[in-house]
Amino acid sequence: MLTESTRRAEQAVSRTKVDAGDYFIGIVREGQTLRILDLEGNQAADTLFYSAADPAERYSAVDTIREQGNLYLTTGSVLRSSENRPMLEIVADTCGRHDTLGGACATESNTVRYDLEKRCMHACRDSWMLAIAEHPEYGISKRDIGHNINFFMNVPVTEEGGLTFEDGISAPGKYVELTALMDVVVLISNCPQLNNPCNGYNPTPIELLVWDNE
Ligand SMILES: [Zn+2]
Repeated sequence: MLTESTRRAEQAVSRTKVDAGDYFIGIVREGQTLRILDLEGNQAADTLFYSAADPAERYSAVDTIREQGNLYLTTGSVLRSSENRPMLEIVADTCGRHDTLGGACATESNTVRYDLEKRCMHACRDSWMLAIAEHPEYGISKRDIGHNINFFMNVPVTEEGGLTFEDGISAPGKYVELTALMDVVVLISNCPQLNNPCNGYNPTPIELLVWDNE
């Protein structure tokens, strides 16, 4: 569902540009709103959320899908934790659909899907691993890396139940906004994938904006 935001960029308390292939890790407090902005279009932002109080509690695609009765994420979707508690709610969305089924790219899946030579190519899982290694203060370890959300990525489900990676439906300036319902750690890999159309074969930067509770 397409919903525009009334929040103004100049009132944001923080603005962070994340280059193509880089990661972001940081805390969004309960009541704050995070906008993920697709600056140049057709970019995939592979995202994980954790409870800042206890990272063992994390985003759960299974609980989110079951509770909302729909496979796609958009305005009104409440992202649920592995304890089935509400973590964040999508409050604005100018893209209209975000995937939580396709998973993140890894060097292993790149070799299976594309070619053995792709093994050395940079993948989202590497970016997450680098983020948690460089930021031990969040208490997140390799075992905490679970299923994720691919903001702006288009993975339609076929009538037969199949998953297909399709051309993106995002465009320059499209965004999704989420209000935190608990203090959360946000971990994003701005996807470096070059082998499928999830980011138009051309990884580009995103911007993260945060507003305080109104
Ligand atoms: Zn990726």
